Amino acid sequence: MKILPKINYLFSMIPFKPTSKWFQSLDSAIGKFYSKNKKAKISLTTLQKNKSEGGLEAPNFMYYYLSNQIQYLTKWIHPHEEYNSWLELEQLDCNQIKISDLPFISSALKHHSCFKNPMIASTLSAWWKALEITGSQLKPSILSPIWHNPDFANNKIYLQVKKTITSRIPSLHTTLQPTDLQPPEFVDYIVKLSPRNKKNLSKMYSLLSKTNSIHLPTQKWEKDVSKSFDSDFWTQICENTFKMTKNTNLQLIQFKVLHRTHITQYKLYKMGFSRSDTCTQCTQNMTDTYFHALWLCTPVYQFWVTITQKLSNILDCGIPHSPNVCLIGDLTQTVYPCDTLVTCPG
Ligand SMILES: [Zn+2]
Repeated sequence: MKILPKINYLFSMIPFKPTSKWFQSLDSAIGKFYSKNKKAKISLTTLQKNKSEGGLEAPNFMYYYLSNQIQYLTKWIHPHEEYNSWLELEQLDCNQIKISDLPFISSALKHHSCFKNPMIASTLSAWWKALEITGSQLKPSILSPIWHNPDFANNKIYLQVKKTITSRIPSLHTTLQPTDLQPPEFVDYIVKLSPRNKKNLSKMYSLLSKTNSIHLPTQKWEKDVSKSFDSDFWTQICENTFKMTKNTNLQLIQFKVLHRTHITQYKLYKMGFSRSDTCTQCTQNMTDTYFHALWLCTPVYQFWVTITQKLSNILDCGIPHSPNVCLIGDLTQTVYPCDTLVTCPG
């Protein structure tokens, strides 16, 4: 995609956040591209998720903007790794707060004079948004600065006098356990990134995109096959979609099946485009649900019987006649020739 590097360049160079409307217009254009200017059957929010979570990794421009902005944090946190004259200018605006301490102070910094610098303000705003997205609450930790920290201010006076410090530090130590002082996982990860690492942008983007949840209609599938699966199973199923074949058209077909996007007679009936929700392809007189259309319907069922038998013979393995295999893509039940040899007596 040639557009992405151009947009990333703008995101990294301009210290102002584009309006929400602008991001929405980009999302709308991307959404139309994926749905081929038709009504979207899978939301763009789902398409933007990782492939292992049921998405297609469609670009999320807001996350690219945030990743570009928080890239500068690594330069702040490690100012000695790379000389940068901008850092010196930004340090001047921070007065007595060390620039490397800025990411570990709460949004109370908005009232500090450093926030008047648009570069510092945009990076910090992006950082706080990223913390919100990843569910990482910025609490006092071993990384929090003691001196000149607005979080520890008393009557708008920062801790800078030894007398004040000695009266407060003991109370901090008694109220906070060592485990309480650990920074959130996301913060710890960013701290360890070197500003010289050229893959920081993609690392930050993938961290923001990761949701640790599956975005598939798993409950509907589990109800259809009368079996419940854990999240690891569904992660494997999502990954199988892109590992089983390199053909992107076939990958897309399996992706759509998992998301149950195909239109059935039942859906047409519910949408008001059909007078009946009964399947017209068989004589079972049953509602044409998604599972009926892809598995239970007599001619479709016969099709899957033929396919599994023929493929088992050709490939010399045991492919079970099961919707878990044929529709969901679960390969764990397939019996390969080597398995047969092991279980074969004598
Ligand atoms: Zn049928």
